[in-house]
Amino acid sequence: MKVCNFCGNKNFRERHVQYIYKHNDRFLVVNNVPCEECEYCGEQYFKAEALKKIEEDFNAIYFSGKKAKKETSVPIEEFAEI
Ligand SMILES: [Zn+2]
Repeated sequence: MKVCNFCGNKNFRERHVQYIYKHNDRFLVVNNVPCEECEYCGEQYFKAEALKKIEEDFNAIYFSGKKAKKETSVPIEEFAEI
């Protein structure tokens, strides 16, 4: 039986959420990624296959010229300057 690593709760709900993958200051946003969310603390657990797929897609986009479905620009700030 699955237990939340953070709070010890045993009840999870299936959800589809936005996942932001970041590697060396490059980002990939993936929508509707399936996960299990702890009903008590909200911690999200992703399957290893899902994370692997996202990592492969990241590599395809940044290193093999795959075109992503959509692109957006992301504002970046330094906290001391805001
Ligand atoms: Zn929890």
